[in-house]
Amino acid sequence: MEIPMKSNRPWESWEFRWFGVFRRNTPFEAKRFPAVPPVTSFIDPMWSYPYRDRLLHYLSNAAIGAKVWRLVEAPCLVCGCSLDATIFRWDGIWFWPDSLSHYVATHDVRLPDEMVASIEARSFEPPVAVDPPPLDTLPWPPALWPASRTRSKLLQKIQEFFSFAAPV
Ligand SMILES: [Zn+2]
Repeated sequence: MEIPMKSNRPWESWEFRWFGVFRRNTPFEAKRFPAVPPVTSFIDPMWSYPYRDRLLHYLSNAAIGAKVWRLVEAPCLVCGCSLDATIFRWDGIWFWPDSLSHYVATHDVRLPDEMVASIEARSFEPPVAVDPPPLDTLPWPPALWPASRTRSKLLQKIQEFFSFAAPV
């Protein structure tokens, strides 16, 4: 499934409840990872959000929604530094890789408006007790969740999806 980029402000129309999965803005990766947006499309140096530090705290302190033990290389797509590809955060509504805070803090990646509103509605306090994420019913791109897959397979696919490190 191709992610529709309806405007040059894709944070206004992000329709999923996962975020933080990016690809490089190259034709090769566009073909290989059609379900994810290029990181450059979410970089907005003009985002003058007044509570960015509180957002970052939230992103790094929400519950761990999934942890994958298989180690993979996950370089930052902008600066190349090594990012954690094993921890995924979850707040009962949104699911994101732990590495998302790096993109926001270092590269001006802008969060979807709905994600920001959801975090603001909680006064930037990650909920302490949340049910595990319904990994099989979150609106993943269909390629990620064929009905026959087991949960462990799904976790593996999610990690590949988030890190791009595994062979297709
Ligand atoms: Zn970086």
